[in-house]
Amino acid sequence: MKIRIAGIVPESFVDGTGIRFTIFFQGCLRNCKGCHNPATHDLNGGEILETDEIISAIKKNPLLTGITLSGGEPFLQIEPALELAKAAKILGLNVWCYTGYKFENIPADAEELLKNIDVLVDGEYIEELRDLELNFRGSKNQRLIDLNKTRELKKIILLEE
Ligand code: SF4
Repeated sequence: MKIRIAGIVPESFVDGTGIRFTIFFQGCLRNCKGCHNPATHDLNGGEILETDEIISAIKKNPLLTGITLSGGEPFLQIEPALELAKAAKILGLNVWCYTGYKFENIPADAEELLKNIDVLVDGEYIEELRDLELNFRGSKNQRLIDLNKTRELKKIILLEE
């Protein structure tokens, strides 16, 4: 399956806990003031890869803790995001995903993708709420949501930090 990406970091220590394979999706319509990744906004930019190529690269690194879907906006490419997340799960890797959507406003057709995500970092980047002390996110409105516990308890549970 084709995926349009802005780039890949095969070993990241800043996009979630442990050692992570981060895929930066290409395309975002939000244009948050102060966005650190404006080159990822163009829906026709970046490069097109096959998800199989990315999954093969993930398989080659036995040291990985998980994968991170970042952007850009992963929820603009739900099908390839789901394929990557499912492949990671089969490999025993956890899945983090960054999105500009608030959890409550995630599109209904992304339900299957959400089921395959362990931690959702949600919400737009708001420059006025920027806080350098925060782990794995840029502004105070963004949350690290533990989706496994959220599903279990049927209310939003934040990741313990
Ligand atoms: S959602 Fe993320 S990638 Fe999109 S404009 Fe905002 S900070 Fe940038």
